[in-house]
Amino acid sequence: MKLQEKLIFEKSRPGRTGYEVPTTTAKPIDPAAYFGKFYRKDIPEFPELSEPEVIRHFVNLSKLNYSIDEGLYPLGSCTMKYNPKINEKVAAMEGFCAAHPYWPERQVQGCMRIIKELEEMLCEITGMSAFSLQPAAGAHGELTGMLMVKAYHDSRGENRDIVLIPDSAHGTNPSSAHICGLHVVQIASNERGGLNIEDLGKNLSPKVAALMITNPSTLGLFEEEIGTIAKMLHDVGAQLYMDGANMNALLGKVRPGDFGVDVLHINLHKTFSTPHGGGGPGAGPVGVAGHLEKFRPVPIVEEAPGGTLRFNVNRLDSIGKVKGFFGNFGIIVRAYTYILNMGPEGLKAIAETAVLNANYLRVKLKPRFNLPYDRICMHEVVFDDKRQAPKGVSTLNIAKRLMDYGFHPPTIYFPLIVGGALMIEPTESEPLEELDRFIATMNTIADEAETNPDLVKNAPYTTPVLKLDEARAARTPVLRWKPAAK
Ligand SMILES: *Cc1c(COP(=O)(O)O)cnc(C)c1O
Repeated sequence: MKLQEKLIFEKSRPGRTGYEVPTTTAKPIDPAAYFGKFYRKDIPEFPELSEPEVIRHFVNLSKLNYSIDEGLYPLGSCTMKYNPKINEKVAAMEGFCAAHPYWPERQVQGCMRIIKELEEMLCEITGMSAFSLQPAAGAHGELTGMLMVKAYHDSRGENRDIVLIPDSAHGTNPSSAHICGLHVVQIASNERGGLNIEDLGKNLSPKVAALMITNPSTLGLFEEEIGTIAKMLHDVGAQLYMDGANMNALLGKVRPGDFGVDVLHINLHKTFSTPHGGGGPGAGPVGVAGHLEKFRPVPIVEEAPGGTLRFNVNRLDSIGKVKGFFGNFGIIVRAYTYILNMGPEGLKAIAETAVLNANYLRVKLKPRFNLPYDRICMHEVVFDDKRQAPKGVSTLNIAKRLMDYGFHPPTIYFPLIVGGALMIEPTESEPLEELDRFIATMNTIADEAETNPDLVKNAPYTTPVLKLDEARAARTPVLRWKPAAK
């Protein structure tokens, strides 16, 4: 079937059906008697199709997708690593996937033990004192963390409502702070891509609640002054929040708790290999230093004498509930499996391989692509389109052209402080051959940009939807199929 034909949605033929309701001798019920005016005799505009047609429609659509199970997925800041299949096997065990959140504690001791042990593992990995696994995403973790920071200052009778955020930060940082009712002040970066210490100093005051910093930063660079930054904040009574969505480069190497971080969120759906991007729910656990422990959301899994676990909801200083029940438990099981599967040496090897892979791409692509911050990088590397721009070829064009060669594009135009950013994160999952295939393709695109820029500018040519009218797509997006008017 041709690519374009797979996208034809008008497949309905009157009278076609994929099911047959068995006839019955029982007295038919009258649906109208049960549902009253809500009873519909007809579902308008429902497509009429046979079962194989429905199956083919969805299978063909699924084949238009791209996933880490097919090849490199270098979407920077997203850590699109391979999701080991053993995670799925363990999460599908009946004791985990069939457990109901309303079951009594004595019946779910095993599930509660997983929650408690994952919290302990994350404490050991990050150096924080305690964790909450409840937040459902990174951004949700940020919100939970900032609510705890606010509760901490309030408990001391301090009215602090300013949050400092570097100009390289992920957009969720300012929005989380804003939702907490805090005011955001932007801090500049220095010429090495780190935080501008002078600018930080100028903005410190008794009104500052916290600095939200990402380390490694979204430029893929380790914040070398993190010790100094922590001290500057603590000296004025402010808290150090770390966005640890991208912890991949730090695993088994450096612990945020050891360099002065008070609150940290991490993403199980990035660093800890749970599905990501249309693959299901996420989890953004939050870790805290000792002085913030009592503000954690309820419930907290606690061990009673004798080893029985219970959910404690009766904690006076808690910020309250942030999520239904106990977080996305299936995701917790997957991350727990991953950590046990890797072990301490495996986690270290992940960090080393992820950093090595990113630096391999940095060195190999540098001859053809502009590298705004030319330093040894951590888990990812950020290039831009300055060398291709004179020929009219932009980052967007390069990303689209990569799709023609069968790659998922990198993250583009982020971080905002790099104009035309191409943010590439290979992760540890990639063998050398796949990295070399990507490098060869990027070099081919660099050649094309020189010799035939229109070829790159009009890409893609092989995708079901060709070059988009970006302005129209943004202004009048068509986000779902609607039946043709009769
Ligand atoms: C992914 C990411 C987030 C947000 O995580 P979500 O799970 O998408 O909410 C926040 N900060 C950084 C640096 C990230 O990379």
